[in-house]
Amino acid sequence: MKRTLESLDGGAIEGQRALVRVDFNCPVKDGRVTDNTRVRAALPTIEFLRSRGARVVLLSHLGRPKGGPDPKYSLQPVVNELERLLGSPVAFLRDPLSEQAVTETRRLPRGGVAMAENTRFLPGEEGNDPALAARLAALGDFYVNDAFGSAHRAHASTEAVARLLKPAVSGFLMQQELHYLGDALHRPKRPFVALLGGAKISGKIDLISALLPTVDHVLLGGAMACTFFAAMGLETGKSLVEADRVELARRLLAESGTKLVLPGGAVIAQELKAGAETRTVRRDQIPEGWAVYDIDPETERDFGTKIEGAGTVVWNGPMGVFETPPFDHGTLAIAGAMAAATGNGAVTVVGGGDSAAAVAQAGLENRMTHVSTGGGASLEFLEGKTLPGVAALDDV
Ligand code: ADP
Ligand code: MG
Repeated sequence: MKRTLESLDGGAIEGQRALVRVDFNCPVKDGRVTDNTRVRAALPTIEFLRSRGARVVLLSHLGRPKGGPDPKYSLQPVVNELERLLGSPVAFLRDPLSEQAVTETRRLPRGGVAMAENTRFLPGEEGNDPALAARLAALGDFYVNDAFGSAHRAHASTEAVARLLKPAVSGFLMQQELHYLGDALHRPKRPFVALLGGAKISGKIDLISALLPTVDHVLLGGAMACTFFAAMGLETGKSLVEADRVELARRLLAESGTKLVLPGGAVIAQELKAGAETRTVRRDQIPEGWAVYDIDPETERDFGTKIEGAGTVVWNGPMGVFETPPFDHGTLAIAGAMAAATGNGAVTVVGGGDSAAAVAQAGLENRMTHVSTGGGASLEFLEGKTLPGVAALDDV
């Protein structure tokens, strides 16, 4: 168990500078944040610290700038959005390594907020450089990590700094993510169903292998299912099949018994575009020249029944190409089944960036027990891997 923000007593917070790593890696277009989900997700931590009289100094990365400052990836638009959400000014530390930045953090009023420019502009961030971490540590008196979405990376602002600046505790979002994902994985209400999809099996093999021993069922959709169809000796047309994983898929099928459930049929087309001619076929009837782009209605019902009868469902990866209608049908139907399961008292957890986007597209975010804000981080967590940004925090 990791030490939490709540465990700090008032004296440790009041008047102190809280250096808070958040994940404000939001989509930005024309200088504006187009989706502020991640900023909103960190507000409970920020508001808690402000209400306890802390001076709040925020760190985040944005995008993937190539080794130095790049105006395209400036956090200025995020600072503007944060000011709007908080209804109070946010000091922007354009050069977080300067003496002036340190001075500015000391001059913040109690409850004041500052945000440092993109941590990935700083040399050594991605190399987890302890020298950079020491400079960052000078911006605060204690450390809070609320950036679950960045916790799978050992970077100076997520890992090395947490080893230098103490106490180092988890924020509310981090705590919530670890709680829901951890419980689903380690204390699942049964039946425990994993629902996996998405494009590539190669990115999810570790997840399948890690989940198989503990789950009651793995329901497999998306393009991933096609590699399994190929392993069963079925024609897959021009579906996305990873030839170098067919053998592995064959082994997983042999080892998993009846746990692994594949779609019985598919919605196929000759080209991937909105309004393309589609056919619904059994999985052993996929013609050459056609590709699988969604699960069929019968699979929707089959998976739906298993989901609605589950005690715990973990979902990672869309069932089809949900960005291109009508191939969103299967994914949206499954999102509906998840919502129904939540209503039945099941614990429903969504991990994975595209899966979370699909749930939002269905307007069902509030009907899931938990939608993770961390794509890669939730995947690694569910694979049973240690997240360096979490490991570096204080133990209780
Ligand atoms: P997540 O971000 O939730 O972990 P992934 O990134 O693994 O999910 O996969 C999402 C992508 O998988 C989507 O862009 C979707 O279009 C694609 N996908 C799903 N099914 C298919 C399919 N049958 N053929 C091609 N791409 C697919
Ligand atoms: Mg994705």
